Amino acid sequence: MVTAGPALPDAHRARRVAERVPDPELPMLTLADLGVLRDVETRADGTVVASLTPTYSGCPAMAEMRADVAARLRAAGYARVEIRTVLDPPWTSDWITESGRRKLAEHGIAPPGRAPRGPVPLVLSPTRPAVPCPRCGSRETEETSRFAATSCKALWRCRACREPFEYVKEI
Ligand SMILES: [Zn+2]
Repeated sequence: MVTAGPALPDAHRARRVAERVPDPELPMLTLADLGVLRDVETRADGTVVASLTPTYSGCPAMAEMRADVAARLRAAGYARVEIRTVLDPPWTSDWITESGRRKLAEHGIAPPGRAPRGPVPLVLSPTRPAVPCPRCGSRETEETSRFAATSCKALWRCRACREPFEYVKEI
């Protein structure tokens, strides 16, 4: 039981706490890096309201993210916490920040390319831009599996350095 909570609602401090919560599936990224944390507000009664937007649809990590944010805020002294889900506008991988993309690459995971915009033309063999290898930068890479350990990532392999790597898909 935390008793030494802040005397006044402090949305700025609450936001800093929520921002640092790691993503359950990409733990090198915080929810701020991922662009999942939309807003943190405080109400007059001291309730902290954190708004999250789910990433890949059906991502099972969402429930865990909500629970983690609530737990961190409570641990930081905010007794009343409400987690809201904001579905509109929908999250896209473009919301991953520059620092988030850098952290992914540092961990050997290729960050997503630009998300497709507007109506996606239906073609039989879409030409996918090559994903550069996060280790050596070569574009001589190929997809080996559409789904890695989690549905938001695909498995790729570099033909130059022969290393397999994960790639966060753009949506
Ligand atoms: Zn390579």
